[in-house]
Amino acid sequence: MEGSNANTNKKKVEAEGEGESSKKKLKVTMGVETLDCPICYGPLGPKIFQCSVGHCICLSCREKLDKKCPVCSIKTSFKRCFAMEHVVQEAKVACSNKKYGCAEGVIYYQKEEHKKACPSAPCFCAASGCGFAGPTKVLLDHFLIHHKYASTILPDSGTVSLCLQPGLHVLRYTGTSYFFLLSMDLEPFGHAISVICIQPNVKEPKFKCNMEYDCVMTGCHESITCYIRSSSLSDGLPTVYDLIIPKGKISDDQNGIMFEATILSRSCLQGKGSAPDLQGTPYVKTANTAAVTADEEEERA
Ligand SMILES: [Zn+2]
Ligand SMILES: [Zn+2]
Ligand SMILES: [Zn+2]
Ligand SMILES: [Zn+2]
Repeated sequence: MEGSNANTNKKKVEAEGEGESSKKKLKVTMGVETLDCPICYGPLGPKIFQCSVGHCICLSCREKLDKKCPVCSIKTSFKRCFAMEHVVQEAKVACSNKKYGCAEGVIYYQKEEHKKACPSAPCFCAASGCGFAGPTKVLLDHFLIHHKYASTILPDSGTVSLCLQPGLHVLRYTGTSYFFLLSMDLEPFGHAISVICIQPNVKEPKFKCNMEYDCVMTGCHESITCYIRSSSLSDGLPTVYDLIIPKGKISDDQNGIMFEATILSRSCLQGKGSAPDLQGTPYVKTANTAAVTADEEEERA
C-alpha cells in the first residue's frame, strides 16, 4: 500500500489543482526525527531557530545555548527558520486515540496537547484482570453488558433512591459523554461508599453529590455533600471513600442499604480553583497522591 501512495497523491494534487489551486495538498511520509528538536527530542513548533549551517533547534533549547551550535559545534548566531515553521504547522499525524475512534489529523507538535483534550480518549475498566479500555460510551456498554453492573438512569432532578448493594452501581443521564459510578465496600468498620465521575481528560470536579441514608431499624439518618472526582479509571477505582456508615448505624441484613443520591452540577457553586471544604471530606483508603501535571503553557509567537 505504501508504494502506491506517490501515484495516488499525484492524482490527488492534479485533481485539486484544477479547482482550488490555493488548497493543493500532498501526502508525504517523513521520519519523525525531521520534526523533532535534535537537542531535547521534543517536537519542533514555532519559534524554530537555525544555525548558519541550517541545523534547526527549538526555542527553549535556543535560550539555554551560548553561541555555539550543539549539532555542528560551529560558532554561530541563531536565526528564525520560517521555512521550517511552515513545515511543522502543516505536518499532521493521526491521533494516538485513532483506535478508539478519533479521526482527527493532528498537527504533530500539538499532538500531546490534543491528546489531553481528545474527545475519544479512553476510560478504563477497573475490574481485576479485565484490561478493557474505550471511549466513555463504549466503556459504559462494557460495564452494563459484560460486567452486568447495576445501573440507574438519573432523572433531570438528579435524585435517585436506591437499594445500594456492595460493589459498583452506575448512575447515568441519557445522552451525556460521562457517567457516575457509586462504589460500596463492606469494611470491618462499616459500609464505605465513594462516588466518581467517569470521563477522560478532566481534573477539576464538575459535580457534587449529596448522599443520604435512612434506616428505619436503627433510626439513623445522615446526609453529606461531597465533590465528585473525575477519573478515566486509568489508576483503578478511587482510593478514598466519601461516606462511611459506621457499623451499627444501619441494619445490615445483607440486602443492601436504602440510599439516596443527588447529583448536582458544580456550576451552582461559586468560584473556581481549589475546592472549598464540604461536609464530605474524603476518607483516604491508602496514601495516594494523584500526580497532576500542570498544563504546559504553549509557546506562541
Ligand atoms: Zn529542543
Ligand atoms: Zn549547526
Ligand atoms: Zn484525538
Ligand atoms: Zn471489564
